[in-house]
Amino acid sequence: MIADISRILPEYKICQKTFRSSIFAVGVGVHSGAKSKISFHPAPIDTGIVFRRVDVTDKNNIIPATYEYIVDTKMCSCFGNKEGVTVSTAEHVMAALSASGVSNAYIDVDGPEIPIMDGSARDFVFLFDCVGLIEQDAPLKALKIKRKVSFTDDKGVSVSLSPAQEGLTFNFSIDFPARIIGHQETTFMLSKDSFKKEIAYARTFCLLQEIEYLRSMGLARGGSLDNAIVVNGDSIMNPEGLRDELEFVRHKTLDAVGDLYQAGMPIIGAFKGNKSGHYHNNMLLKEVFKNTSNYEIVDLNNFIKETEKNIAVA
Ligand SMILES: [Zn+2]
Repeated sequence: MIADISRILPEYKICQKTFRSSIFAVGVGVHSGAKSKISFHPAPIDTGIVFRRVDVTDKNNIIPATYEYIVDTKMCSCFGNKEGVTVSTAEHVMAALSASGVSNAYIDVDGPEIPIMDGSARDFVFLFDCVGLIEQDAPLKALKIKRKVSFTDDKGVSVSLSPAQEGLTFNFSIDFPARIIGHQETTFMLSKDSFKKEIAYARTFCLLQEIEYLRSMGLARGGSLDNAIVVNGDSIMNPEGLRDELEFVRHKTLDAVGDLYQAGMPIIGAFKGNKSGHYHNNMLLKEVFKNTSNYEIVDLNNFIKETEKNIAVA
């Protein structure tokens, strides 16, 4: 029905989008080790991305996927509502939603963890390609960064968002003592195609000693070489090797793509991160929204018209 309306009234070049129909996947939670199901459903205009914990029936089970609802960033991005209902390891699915251009969706999970799949966003992108998206009869808005905003933690690790002419670019660098990682840097401009080609397949990674510590605390029970790169000293334990030599920094970029979608809309800006993680990404968004001089919410159709006009004049 929504699709039919938008075909008759193609008023907007860039519309909000939702799933054509419902689709689901089954996997394991990386920490609980429990099997969990995630299903994606169409949602009306201006819903945004909303998680629903379908196993919770005695209290509010709805959790909007925006930066204000982040309750934990230690090992992943975990969203939670006021009733204490949470959904964790949301960053990879958020990255796939962002890159695929999904504006509105209900995402049902039957437990506290999003399935880890293969540790990357590849399966989610594939799923969204299979189900397809429909255009909705409403313009898409974006968060345009108007001046540089940074966040630096007490160890000097920092992230920033600066103004950009168009789109969202990423510059990420990491430094690890393990020689297989070492210093890695990547730059990337977000689009569905570039995400699929350069970022979506990059798996999460951890150091062997971290896993041993997490297991001693009863965590990482679902973690295995099937869903993470495990670094042991200067080499990796995965027999199949790396998917590419920059897989580590590309995965950090994947996490940042997902975390920045907590803005609730696409961003027009330039992101820079150095050794940073989920905590920094979330704090950066909080910093942006603290002051209305930092940003402007633009209708992407008007923004593109203006950009085209400027190019014509130039
Ligand atoms: Zn990740």
